[in-house]
Formats: sequence, structure tokens, C-alpha cells
Amino acid sequence: MTPPPPLGLIAELTHRCPLQCPYCSNPLDLERAAAELDTATWLRVLDQAAEIGVLQVHLTGGEPLARRDCSELVAHASANGLYTNLITSGVTLDDRAMAALLAAGIDHIQLSFQDVVASENDRFGASPNAFAKKQAAAARIRQAGLPLTLNFVIHRANAGRVPQMIAMAEALGADRTEIAHVQYYGWGLVNRAALLPTLDQLHAATEAVDDARARLSGRMVIDYVVPDYHAARPKACMGGWAQRFMNISPAGRAMPCHAAETLPGFTFPSVRDVPLSDIWNSSDAFLRFRGTAWMKEPCRSCDRREVDWGGCRCQAFALLGDTHATDPACELSPDHGVMQAAVTESEGAAGAYVFRKPRKDVVLS
Ligand code: SF4
Ligand code: SF4
Repeated sequence: MTPPPPLGLIAELTHRCPLQCPYCSNPLDLERAAAELDTATWLRVLDQAAEIGVLQVHLTGGEPLARRDCSELVAHASANGLYTNLITSGVTLDDRAMAALLAAGIDHIQLSFQDVVASENDRFGASPNAFAKKQAAAARIRQAGLPLTLNFVIHRANAGRVPQMIAMAEALGADRTEIAHVQYYGWGLVNRAALLPTLDQLHAATEAVDDARARLSGRMVIDYVVPDYHAARPKACMGGWAQRFMNISPAGRAMPCHAAETLPGFTFPSVRDVPLSDIWNSSDAFLRFRGTAWMKEPCRSCDRREVDWGGCRCQAFALLGDTHATDPACELSPDHGVMQAAVTESEGAAGAYVFRKPRKDVVLS
């Protein structure tokens, strides 16, 4: 049976980024600028996305504005009737970039902050003056009349400042705020011991989100993503493998999620050679973990198997070395203890971070 089309196309335009966050979920082996898809190929991909029924395109990276053709891609997606969402660090979203995006018909911008304290924001991004540039970018977005979503990534060093983050989002006129605990992939996994919040910190952050949701009901939506390491059940990663999203890497590899390249035994089809319809409907990479047939116990007979789809395949492989295992975030997993072991290991670990390193060939426009 042909599956319903993907809701969203996640277009990772580049891994280039002016920031170097230690929790970045980009791969450790960042893609070279020279390997990135050219403009013509991205335009063709956007045509195909519209043809197969994709509704939204999320332009992300790295920093998508590092691509000089970013607004050209927005314009093309928009002309194809696709809803366009730019996910940006904001540090290069100056007047010129904003004007180009507006002329292209951008629908929505999601702006990330590393912290609500300027010095900490700039330290975590390893970028002086980034906080001031982000504040200016937020003002530009609101002045343009666009909906604004702010994103804060939460970890041990900033978990106590969730109330101030939400207050800042309110002051900047955000319609939506995402309070997202670090997801431990890529550089985030490398820095896990230094980033994991304590259980007390998690409870305090959750309480702050609950209070703000009650206070701001009808004025601002607050999305909250909790860390798997303190969870009893896993998240439905990407809404289930190859069920809702298609992710295209900077070099054109199509994957069900951006971390899937860490999995062994896969050949991810390239959009340079294979149409999106074939990739979505019949490629091994997309079929392998779609649905429930691949599951082992305890997922196979669990009544939540079509709720969380067994959790995250990349996390199961990263922590257990088994792509088919139940995500150890689930307390029904026989391996759930690895999560507690990581929490225990992180207690008392120094806050020494390995910052995401730029490639030598980084070129920022
Ligand atoms: S997490 Fe930080 S370094 Fe990674 S892409 Fe986003 S802004 Fe850039
Ligand atoms: S056993 Fe599998 S399907 Fe059931 S809750 Fe845990 S991860 Fe989800």
C-alpha cells in the first residue's frame, strides 16, 4: 500500500554555521561546502516535493542563510504552494537578508537563542555579539509582520533560566516558544556528561513551563521537549520512521531523520539520482523501520507500538549497538539502565565542552 505523503520536507541546506554550539546535533563529520547540492538540484527537489503532496518545507542546517541562494529556494517553494519555515541562528539575518526573504514569500521564521544571558549565549555559540544580533533579528521578524518562534536549547548550565527565557520571548513578541532539552546526537552526545540536567533541574524547568503555559494561554504557545534520559517512555522520533518527514542532507542524501546516517547497513538514496516519490514509497532506507513489522519484544506486543513506534533507532544504535532494539529511553526496555548510568556518570562532571568545530572550508556569506 502506498503510504500517505510526508507532511514536511526538512531541507538541510548546509552544515556551515557561524556558531559552534557544543550541543549541535549535526554530525561530527560535517559536510563540505563543495559537496552541497547546487541550486538547480534543490529547485528540482522542491518541485518534486510539491508534486508528491508535501505541505511544509523547513529550511535548516547548519545555518541556511549561509547559502546565498536561500531566498531563491524560499521563493521557489512558495511559488509551488509549499509553506516555508526558516530555522536560523539569526546572526546573519540582517536588513538585506530579511528583505530578500520577505520578497521571496517566507511564511515563518524560527530563531534560536543559546541563552537569555547575553554572555552565556555568546559563550555557548562561541560567537561574540551573537546575542545582540539575535535580538535585532527578532525585532526585524516582528517588524515584518511575520510569526516568530523562539527556540531555546536547555541543558545543565541554563536549565534554571527557563522563566527568564519565556519572559524574553514574551517581550520580543513571539507567538511560539520552544523549550527543548538537548537531544543527544552528534556533538550533543559527545558532550552528554557536561550537558545532562539533573532530575531536580528537569522538574523545575517543567514546572516553569507549566506555569507559563497557564499564564500565557491564548497568547503564546509553548512547546516543551524533555530529555530522554529522565523519561519513562520514548518520544515518537520524527513522528515514526518515514511516516511524517523526509530529511535531505546538504549533499542530497534522503533520510527519515537527520541522524540516520549514523546507522550501519544503510545506503541512503540521493536526490541527485532518485525522485522523491520513489525514495518515499519504495526505497529500502525508508521502508526498513516504517510501521511495526521490524520490531522485537517488548515493542512487538506493546499497546504503544503505534504511539511511539519503538522510539528512536539512532538512539538504540548509539547506546546499545542494535538498530532494532527498543529505545532504551523506555523503562520497558531490558537496557533502560544505560540511561540511568549516563545520568549517574554526568553527576559531578565538569562543564568542559567540546565545541562544534568549523571545517576549514567554511564560507559564510
Ligand atoms: S546548534 Fe548551533 S552550531 Fe549547530 S547548527 Fe544550530 S546554531 Fe549552528
Ligand atoms: S516497549 Fe516499545 S512500543 Fe512499548 S512503550 Fe516501550 S518503546 Fe514504546
